[in-house]
Amino acid sequence: MKFDTVIIGGGLAGMACGIRLAEAGRRCAIVSQGQSALHFSSGSFDLLSRLPDGTAVEDPIRGMAELAPVAPEHPYVRIGVERCGDYALQVPEMLRKAGIPVVGDCRKNHYRITPMGKAKATWLTMDAYLRAEEPGRLPFQKVCIVNVEGFLDFYPEFIAEEFRAYGVTSRFGSVNFPDLEKIRQNPSEMRSANIARVFDHERNLEALAVRIREVAADSEAVILPAILGIDRNDAFETLRKKVDMPLYLLPTLPPSIPGIKAQQALQARFRALGGEYFLGDSVLSADLENDRVKRVYTANHGDMPFEADSFVLATGSFFSKGLLASPDRIVEPVFDVDTLFTPDRSEWYTLHFFDKQNYQAFGVVTDASLRLFKEGRLIENLYGAGAGLAGFYPVQEGCGAGVSLLSAFYVADTILNSK
Ligand SMILES: Cc1cc2nc3c(=O)[nH]c(=O)nc-3n(C[C@H](O)[C@H](O)[C@H](O)COP(=O)(O)OP(=O)(O)OC[C@H]3O[C@@H](n4cnc5c(N)ncnc54)[C@H](O)[C@@H]3O)c2cc1C
Repeated sequence: MKFDTVIIGGGLAGMACGIRLAEAGRRCAIVSQGQSALHFSSGSFDLLSRLPDGTAVEDPIRGMAELAPVAPEHPYVRIGVERCGDYALQVPEMLRKAGIPVVGDCRKNHYRITPMGKAKATWLTMDAYLRAEEPGRLPFQKVCIVNVEGFLDFYPEFIAEEFRAYGVTSRFGSVNFPDLEKIRQNPSEMRSANIARVFDHERNLEALAVRIREVAADSEAVILPAILGIDRNDAFETLRKKVDMPLYLLPTLPPSIPGIKAQQALQARFRALGGEYFLGDSVLSADLENDRVKRVYTANHGDMPFEADSFVLATGSFFSKGLLASPDRIVEPVFDVDTLFTPDRSEWYTLHFFDKQNYQAFGVVTDASLRLFKEGRLIENLYGAGAGLAGFYPVQEGCGAGVSLLSAFYVADTILNSK
């Protein structure tokens, strides 16, 4: 099989890169093993929330300008602040065209609300989700937090406790219907995706609206866990109209409905543009000739390799097995390209879970165009994008999605300009 570009990994980075290339008319394939970090997403996309020393960032683009002296390997430094700013303006449009409406501004972080009710700085938040311009300023004073009986991945009491600190009074409501009873018979089935399927049925959405109106009569707004619209896109909007009062979703513990929806929407957009998406397949090995990748071999296609002019490694970090830790080094398993890590294993992590963990900044080594190296030699047509890149701390710096999206755009443009 012959393509212009083969992208390995179909998470946020792989799909953003594939969509940009396909929009420009390139023949692309994405080969992706399975779940990506999106399946665990909060429904918000972070660009830059803190500098490496922990200083809070209000304006992500201005914050990027401070990275070069303290984090020279950071992907934003590689891409360049001006270009990052341009890409950050283009991302919302790319997401909207895929059917993922988002709100946010790359020059001013807003705050998303976590499943535990905490306010966290972020860049873009999906439309229906609760957000605040300032950490302590929610758009209501009296709210009703509604949960499904027996749903354990959402914590109204913790959320109410956090809201109290912002001067917001919360009351609680619960819902239960015969169709929910069916999945409750097995408590392990009470997960957000299964509950969302129940509310994909109009009669249950109607019953939910009636119940919300009962329990929230004297509240200014209603909060629901993200349990709407796994197979239908209009579930939230339909419910909002039926309830006829301000309604917001909050993310739950995984699986993440907003993340699953985003994954499906990006995949559909890529396919609609003519891209070929090979889901459930994994790239196992590659042939290199004269410092170029000629072809890659996958688990499902055996001796039918994927050939292309350029290849993009977007296999993620440790979470997606794009990087592996051997006893003495960090390994990238497909091409065995060069990786950046500290040689002393005792420095890879600390036992304090919330500390800055060095391993998070380990990743593949790149040149200024995000091309990869093997045994010190540049591979001319192999690019890296996304969470597997070296030089940044996605959790501490709050820049995970931003690095994936902006590096994907940058690699796509480099490929487009290289012909
Ligand atoms: C649990 C979790 C939750 C997160 N939540 C957020 C959030 O809410 N907001 C935010 O801004 N950031 C979040 N992040 C940061 C996250 O890294 C980025 O947001 C981003 O989604 C990462 O996308 P990616 O495409 O670079 O990598 P991934 O999402 O990891 O995707 C890599 C893909 O490559 C596939 N793959 C791996 N090896 C192969 C192979 N050999 N062949 C074929 N396919 C392969 C994997 O199956 C996977 O689908 C989160 C990270 C994690 C780990």
